[in-house]
Amino acid sequence: MRGLGLDPGRIGRIVITHGHCDHYGAAQELADRHGAEILAHGLDAAVIRGEEVIADPVLLEWERPLWEHARAVPAAPPTRVDHELADGDELGFGPGARVVHAPGHTPGSIGIHLPRHGVLFTGDCVARVDRVMLGVFNIDRAQAVASFRRLAALEPATVCFGQGDPLTADAPALLRASADGDSGLQVEHG
Ligand SMILES: [Zn+2]
Repeated sequence: MRGLGLDPGRIGRIVITHGHCDHYGAAQELADRHGAEILAHGLDAAVIRGEEVIADPVLLEWERPLWEHARAVPAAPPTRVDHELADGDELGFGPGARVVHAPGHTPGSIGIHLPRHGVLFTGDCVARVDRVMLGVFNIDRAQAVASFRRLAALEPATVCFGQGDPLTADAPALLRASADGDSGLQVEHG
């Protein structure tokens, strides 16, 4: 933030996209330092607070080596959730930023949509690793595919991913192409 000429003291809210430790490990420290509140979907809140353990993902064969690597990430400290979110909630910035429930990666995964600016934060439902694709390590893959399509239908001009660089050109077409036929989105069985 300082690199952008902004004051970290102005952080008022930290919105957690889902209850995976690599997405909220520093949230409480940042919130305490700057007096911010922490928001997350109600279905992942107990995990983030450290009251429940997140379910393991149902892995595809090619995800297994990645998962062995990813699970070495240290657990996040229990983190308070000041406000539990639900689908359609307005977040009070943007203006008009709102929650889009996008379950499947985890039950409480959300996207954050800023319709006025055409910006979408996907969390881990969508990733951009070489190409736009369904995120990895999904607890319910079929549900994640449906959520991917829901996010793609928003036709954002700018997409910010949990993993990968933001997409700023041809975003609606690339999302649609991935949602419509890309093999990466097929629901695989077995
Ligand atoms: Zn994740």
